[in-house]
Amino acid sequence: MTDTYEIIDHEHDVIVVGAGGAGLRATLGMTAAGLNTACITKVFPTRSHTVAAQGGVGAALGNMNEDSWQWHMYDTVKGADWLGDQDAIEYMCREAAPSVYELEHFGVPFSRTEDGKIYQRPFGGHMRDFGEAPVERACAAADRTGHAILHTLYQQCLKHNAEFFIEYFAIDLIMSEDGACRGVMAWNLADGTIHRFLAHQTLIATGGYGRSYFSATSAHTCTGDGNGMVLRAGLPMEDMEFVQFHPTGIYGSGCLITEGARGEGGYLTNSEGEAFMERYAPSAKDLASRDVVSRAMTIEIRENRGVGPENDHIYLHLEHLGGEVLNQRLPGITETAKIFSGVDATKDPIPVLPTVHYNMGGIPTNYHAEVLRPTVKDPDAICPGLMAIGEAACVSVHGANRLGTNSLLDLVVFGRAAAQRAVRIVEKDKKIKSADPKTGEEAIARFDAVRHSKGKETTASVRLDMQKIMQNNAAVFRSTEILKEGIKLIDKSAEGLKDLGVSDRSLIWNSDLVETLELENLMACSKTTIYSAEARQESRGAHAHEDYPDRDDKKWMKHSLAWLDDKMKVKLGYRPVHEYTLTDEVEYIEPRARVY
Ligand SMILES: Cc1cc2nc3c(=O)[nH]c(=O)nc-3n(C[C@H](O)[C@H](O)[C@H](O)COP(=O)(O)OP(=O)(O)OC[C@H]3O[C@@H](n4cnc5c(N)ncnc54)[C@H](O)[C@@H]3O)c2cc1C
Repeated sequence: MTDTYEIIDHEHDVIVVGAGGAGLRATLGMTAAGLNTACITKVFPTRSHTVAAQGGVGAALGNMNEDSWQWHMYDTVKGADWLGDQDAIEYMCREAAPSVYELEHFGVPFSRTEDGKIYQRPFGGHMRDFGEAPVERACAAADRTGHAILHTLYQQCLKHNAEFFIEYFAIDLIMSEDGACRGVMAWNLADGTIHRFLAHQTLIATGGYGRSYFSATSAHTCTGDGNGMVLRAGLPMEDMEFVQFHPTGIYGSGCLITEGARGEGGYLTNSEGEAFMERYAPSAKDLASRDVVSRAMTIEIRENRGVGPENDHIYLHLEHLGGEVLNQRLPGITETAKIFSGVDATKDPIPVLPTVHYNMGGIPTNYHAEVLRPTVKDPDAICPGLMAIGEAACVSVHGANRLGTNSLLDLVVFGRAAAQRAVRIVEKDKKIKSADPKTGEEAIARFDAVRHSKGKETTASVRLDMQKIMQNNAAVFRSTEILKEGIKLIDKSAEGLKDLGVSDRSLIWNSDLVETLELENLMACSKTTIYSAEARQESRGAHAHEDYPDRDDKKWMKHSLAWLDDKMKVKLGYRPVHEYTLTDEVEYIEPRARVY
């Protein structure tokens, strides 16, 4: 029996789901351009995970040394291990400088050079002269860049009177019979009402799904809700097997120590006191791409050169930089090291371990932020009415491995692009077809079923089981055997969803219900991740396959697609990588060996 819910209707030109850096940049652009825009968010905007970004936003401003967006584009293509779409990468790197200057004018308090320019630091994989030597490209506000950007964007949104629906949990998309998106259903956590938002365009900006794993740097709210909604609407995810492990999560807690720490001169050592990155990446050393550094650390630990009583982690040294530099450039992480590992970073090394950090995969889009519904005949076909940006999306600019600082960049560049696109395609005065009573019925039925589930399993136990499977069976190194086992285990774990019991039936501030809805989304992400990984028989970027140690461009230069049916069965497909640039100003960068 479905309970009767109080349904409140809304109509807008655009609905943005998510108020992280991506959602706020889009909301700002749309509102400022006069579109009637609503932004829905499950947490208060400035609590979104973007607030935790530390190191910087990438743009070839050339404030410290010579730099160019073409070098940035080369590094991004190479970092992505040639799985990125080069038209989209060209767009992002070309638009980087104007997008960052825009942030500066909005009021982001960037750190400054002595002559008053935006301060920039080196970051992994960002090089000069097409891969020759590290370059200073990360525009930083000390080690709190995401915090500075998020707060500034929120203030700008308020200045433009953007409309927010805060602590509203989006449940499912509203799809029309012809397959277009018409809006989204959401639950107001504070008063228990259900809201039906109809719009010309719905933009998903719900962030990543790091919490599919046991140990992650991401916030507990990073549960892939947008990905879950899109999968349930019958649309695929793209490149889900590519999960980034950050080299320096604090051992035990998983809290992040920014790569900016190595950018400022920090380095890693093993139990023999050796700065081992020199062996793995002779020119970039500790500033090689993240997948390269994470694999090197994992090999050192496996070969018994880990540090600590159980030889199971690595040391990050910052003490040689001195208290003054740490205080000025890395104050936040000095504090984090103290709280989460009890280490005084000015005196001792910090214990670190590769930790899940970023999802390269997500909702497939073009560089206008329009969501794709690929078919064999047209792999770039779009789903009308639906857009996606930020970590939830896969444009794909990060391909098989994202470079540090390119996510904050992705948020602002594609947040802006989405706003520009919406302004072009939304017919402002066109009336939205009003809802009939059945609109959104399916979403409410699913919500109601979860709310009244009476099984034996708890949400926490199924979630823990899933997180351990992902941590063990879809980690830094993978093999056919481990992935096949992973598929069996995750299928079994997903069965647990059918036997969940939600103890609290309340509609007001019901965290048990929120976490159960989130778990359904996480499970959808976990399943598509592990199935896509099992199918890809090569090693590329973050997907390191021990039985197929080489990249195989002939067979595998293609994006994975993964659909879920209503029984949670995974179906896989592929679409071609865009092997062309956007303009004739740059040439397609041919695949070559990826060495640092
Ligand atoms: C610790 C850490 C440090 C990082 N440092 C850097 C860095 O220095 N440079 C860099 O480039 N990248 C960095 N990254 C990566 C980058 O910060 C993230 O990829 C990026 O901030 C994601 O932004 P987003 O806007 O896509 O999503 P988020 O910031 O995660 O925001 C998601 C939004 O969606 C909303 N939402 C989610 N589900 C629902 C739902 N069901 N209903 C309603 N609302 C919902 C949330 O309320 C939130 O507002 C870092 C990441 C982490 C975890």
